Amino acid sequence: MIDHHGRNINKLRISLSEVCNMACTYCVTSLSDHKRSPDELNADQMLYLIRILKEYSGIEKVRLTGGEPLMHPKAVQVISGIRDMGLTNIGMTSNGQLLARKAEALAEAGLKSVNISLDSLDPEKFKRFGRVGKLHKTLEGIEACLINDMRVKINMVVIKGENDDEIVKMLEYGVTRGVEVRYLELMGMGPLYKKDDFKLVEMSEILEKISEKYSIQTVSADSDSTSLRYWVPGGYFGIIPNNSAPFCSTCSRLRLTSDGQLIGCLSNPSPISIRHLLNHPDPVVPLQKLVKKSVAFKQDATFTGSSLVMSRVGG
Ligand code: SAM
Repeated sequence: MIDHHGRNINKLRISLSEVCNMACTYCVTSLSDHKRSPDELNADQMLYLIRILKEYSGIEKVRLTGGEPLMHPKAVQVISGIRDMGLTNIGMTSNGQLLARKAEALAEAGLKSVNISLDSLDPEKFKRFGRVGKLHKTLEGIEACLINDMRVKINMVVIKGENDDEIVKMLEYGVTRGVEVRYLELMGMGPLYKKDDFKLVEMSEILEKISEKYSIQTVSADSDSTSLRYWVPGGYFGIIPNNSAPFCSTCSRLRLTSDGQLIGCLSNPSPISIRHLLNHPDPVVPLQKLVKKSVAFKQDATFTGSSLVMSRVGG
């Protein structure tokens, strides 16, 4: 659907499950913050809501996220169901801990691309960031996705004094593996909402660190991409500059939570439920109204922060 700012809202981001097998310090205050919603949709219910969003609201691309999407018991079934309804652009954002085991099944089900969160290449630091989880598992997950011909990108949230010394090291790792690294500016969500000790590393600092060693060229990205894209000899990298250069004006995303609520904007902490449409004899008109209402919350310029934790919203 085209919203009041002329944006074509055609990407659906689904928090498949709020449960996660890591508890990143910038995302939650403890592992127990990641609770499975008692109303988590099963695969058939999720697929029904995706189908009506595709048919009646113009959704063309789907990304599964969470929490950790692979903590949903039927993640593979959801992916093959999405493919079978004719949506071929299916991506996932994952911490990679379970990918080594599941990559082959996911690729067979139709998963085309995986953005893998990796904030440090140092095993101790990785553990400090994620509280649980092991670096070698994520690295093995990356390899498993590459072997299964999936497009892989690495997401690194850069935090001052914690991992900004690894910006170049991560780029070099990405170049070696043929994988694009995307640096994410920290966002004021969940535990970081309205916090004073915000350890933001700005896009300009990231570029400066890289340019001390490599010459950087700007390259074009898709018009609705959230990342700015660059080239260094050997490969590409990106920056998702949530704070320095917000991309709200081209945001084409609608979000669906694991319990069937729509979130039009990361800055809007008031989800709108479409769960009741599971039992509605004629969901078309109410769905279109609710999508419109949800999309109306989209900011036109800047992310303004949110008390919601990212695992509920799905990033
Ligand atoms: N569990 C999966 C993972 O780790 O990729 C998917 C969910 S996670 C919430 C999605 C993305 O949001 C990750 O790349 C994570 O680093 C990012 N994220 C979470 N909290 C963030 C914050 N406060 N600022 C910026 N990015 C954040």
